[in-house]
Order: sequence, then structure tokens, then C-alpha cells
Amino acid sequence: MITRITEEQTEKQREYASLVRMAVNAASSERGEPYRFCVVTYGCQQNEADSERLAGMLSQMGYEKTDSEDNADMILVNTCAVREHAEKRALSVTGGYKHLKEKNPALMIGVCGCMVSQEHRLDDIKHKYPYVDFAFGTSYLWQLPEIIYKRMSKKRRLFLLDTEDDGNIAEDIPVLRECRYRAWLSIMYGCNNFCTYCVVPHVRGRERSRYKEDIIKEAKELIADGVKDITLLGQNVNSYGRGLYEDYGFSELLSDINALDGDFTLRFMTSHPKDATKKLIDTMAECEKVAPQLHLPLQSGSDRVLSRMNRHYTYESYKKLAEYAREKIPNLTLTSDIMVGFPGETEEDFEETLKALEEIRYDMVYSFIYSKRKNTPAAEYEDQVPEDVKGVRFRRMLSVQSDIGLKINEGYVGKTLRVLCDGESKNDEKMLSGRTDGGKNVCFAGNVPAGEYINVKITEARPFVLMGETV
Ligand code: SAH
Ligand code: SF4
Repeated sequence: MITRITEEQTEKQREYASLVRMAVNAASSERGEPYRFCVVTYGCQQNEADSERLAGMLSQMGYEKTDSEDNADMILVNTCAVREHAEKRALSVTGGYKHLKEKNPALMIGVCGCMVSQEHRLDDIKHKYPYVDFAFGTSYLWQLPEIIYKRMSKKRRLFLLDTEDDGNIAEDIPVLRECRYRAWLSIMYGCNNFCTYCVVPHVRGRERSRYKEDIIKEAKELIADGVKDITLLGQNVNSYGRGLYEDYGFSELLSDINALDGDFTLRFMTSHPKDATKKLIDTMAECEKVAPQLHLPLQSGSDRVLSRMNRHYTYESYKKLAEYAREKIPNLTLTSDIMVGFPGETEEDFEETLKALEEIRYDMVYSFIYSKRKNTPAAEYEDQVPEDVKGVRFRRMLSVQSDIGLKINEGYVGKTLRVLCDGESKNDEKMLSGRTDGGKNVCFAGNVPAGEYINVKITEARPFVLMGETV
């Protein structure tokens, strides 16, 4: 059963938050320095959105934000479980905090998110990381104030495994956004698709949609707050409203948010190809605030592999939809997730993926090497692809896609594009970086504050970025 957290339950958390706040304020004034928190985030946009909620609750509890773990009194590690690599990194980073605790006995360390929604990982943290104060699965996020309060007052460590429930929806959790002009907006949680490689449905619970009124209210608040770029989030946004509304789905929600007053751009992710429809594309084309950007993860170009992945579409049906989108939405930025080395993937299957890249010609691809996940069917498949073969395929794929990305980007040279500036470029402090309406990365020379739109003339193309100058 999916639980909607009641107002009383949320109010109870506010009470816990104010109890913690009193303790934190008292300790801060005794020390003559504020207590600080640092949230360390791994994984996808959903986790980034969750981390902003964790940060919001911690601020509510009197902690000040710091970007460095070294001077934090509360560290939360928000983990990912999608691939083994992400888990290993979170575990090793958590291991590194041991010495911080030796220096600062007031430090509290918590681990949360998808990794610890798995029993074996929660046990690992409990038994092998004795300096971790508490850990909790994704469904406990809204109870952070209570968890911290209990740890503070009872001194016992807390380890909360996600229950057998299907998941919950909690509204009115305070949010402390990383960016003042870009925002995430979760419209649904969980996933029901059970792709055979994927751990998400096991750690995020069943698919569930927020009420449209709650989403629209939040969108209005963001716009009033000066947000210019809103990304709607869900594992499969195309199934928004299922089980909740008879004839109100994602297209209707997009239209309704598009109709709100204000100067903002609307994006969304992720769209599962099995549920993406022409209607969705038509709605995107009609809604002037919806960005010309579509992230439509193909995973593999081989129907045999797609079927073993439980993806429920064929390459042909995917291609037709991608072509339709390109036809209807001028200057569409089309991106995808591609996985290599899924169990049973033959050289022929892999070549079909390369062929798909050549035919569809994505602006950009997020590429993954298949990683075995506990309790997923594909982990039990007998025909696992050897690591070295996966590595070779991965590099071949990157090289093919890098040429395609470069060719597409070359088509932009000489054009002038509107860019939302994100401030100093991470790679070159003399340059600025930003993103086009289609979501393409631009690195440019100029003088404009972060959060402002500016027209940039593209002077050079690279595989993953457009170079330019302001006009
Ligand atoms: N809901 C989204 C994907 C979320 S996970 C969708 O269906 O498109 C993001 C990406 O991680 C997936 O698209 C997939 O390419 C990759 N991924 C998921 N599980 C993986 C695994 N076990 N090994 C490697 N990559 C994986
Ligand atoms: Fe994972 Fe598939 Fe759900 Fe995406 S749709 S989160 S890949 S199970």
C-alpha cells in the first residue's frame, strides 16, 4: 500500500525539528560557532532533489550549510545503488570520515538513500562502520528530524530498513535549493517497470504520483521565487497519474504548468520509451515553455537484448518515435542512456547498438557498463559478459558517439543561441558556462552573472560542449 503522509505526521516532524534546533542552538552558542551540516550526494537527479530536502530539514534544525566535510558537525551521505561503482565510492568516502570523528567528537554521521535501502548494505554500515550514527532507507527521508532527535537523546545508533510498504508521499518538507534559478520538481516517486538489470524498483518502492494540485502549487512557488528553469522528475514521467486519475496524465500536467504565468523553461526526465507517445511529443511542441529537449533512454539497439531487459519496446518503434519528435520539435536535443555488456549481449547485439547510435544520432549519450545488482533477475543470468569484453565495447561505443556528438555540434558553429549562464566554467576560470534551451553545454567568453540569459555566438564545436562568445 502506498502511504500519504498526513499533515499531523508532518507536524510531528516539525516538532522534533524544533527540539533538535534548541539543542543545536544551545551547543552553537556554547561553542561560539555555528553547527554545520554537509550533504554528500551520489547518483541521479532524484537524489539531488532528495538532498535538497535533507538540507532543508537540517537548516530547519538550526544547522548551517557547509560544502566541506572537514568543518561539518553533521555529515549525511546520500547514496546510490544503480551500479556497484557508486556503492563502492559511497562506502569508501564514508570510511574516510572516521578520522573526522576523532577530531570532532560532536560530529554525527548519517548514511541514507538507495544503497542502504538494501538490507545487506544497511548491515554493512551497521557492523563495519561503527562511527556511523544512523542510516535509513529512502522511505524514511521525511523522518530525518525524528531520527536525529532520537540519536541525540537516546545515544543509541539507529538503523532503519525500508519496510515492506510500497512507499510513501510526504508533502511540505522544507527545501534548501543548491541553485537559485534552476530547480528540481519531483512529480512522482518509485518505479514499477522492473527492468531486469535495475535495482531502482527494489530501493525506491512502487510508482506513485503526487497530487497535481501539490505539484502546481510547488511550481508556482518556484516561479515566484525567481526560478527560471524547472526540471520535472520521475523514473518514468509518462506514467504520471496512473492509479490516481482517470484522464489526467503527464501531457495534461505539462500543459497546466506551461500555462502558469512567468518567464521560465520546463524540462523533464525520464521518459520511458514504452510509454512515450505522439501525444507527449505534440504537447511538447505546443507548449512554448517546454524546452526542446528529450531524454529517451534506448539502452540497447538489439531487440533480443531489449526483450531480455524487459523494456517492452523494439528498436523500430523507438526509432519511429524519435523521428517523430525530431520532425515536430525544431532544434530538439535528443539524449539517451546506453548500456553495454548486458548478460547475453553478443558482438552482433552490440553492433546493433552502434548502428542505432549512427541512425538516431544523439546529441549526447550517458553510457553505462552493465553492473550486476543483487536481487535483480539479470544478475542470475548465466551468460554474463566478461569484464574485458565489456570494457572494449564501452570504449568502442564512446568513440562512435564522440564523433557523432562532434558532428552535431559542428552544425551549431556560427549560430547564436540563448544560454542560461551558470557562472564561471569549472574547467577554465576565464570562461563562463551555461546551457542552451535544449540543454546543451556551452562554454563562452563574456561578462554576465549566473542566472541570467545571454545570447552566445558559437565559434567552435567539441564532442561534449559548444564554445562561443557573447554577442
Ligand atoms: N528510469 C530511468 C533510468 C534510471 S537509472 C529509465 O528507465 O530510463 C539510469 C540509468 O542507469 C539507466 O537508464 C541505465 O542505463 C543505467 N543502469 C541502471 N541499472 C544499471 C546496471 N545494473 N548496470 C549498469 N547501468 C545501469
Ligand atoms: Fe530502472 Fe527500468 Fe525503472 Fe528505469 S524504468 S528506474 S531502468 S526499472
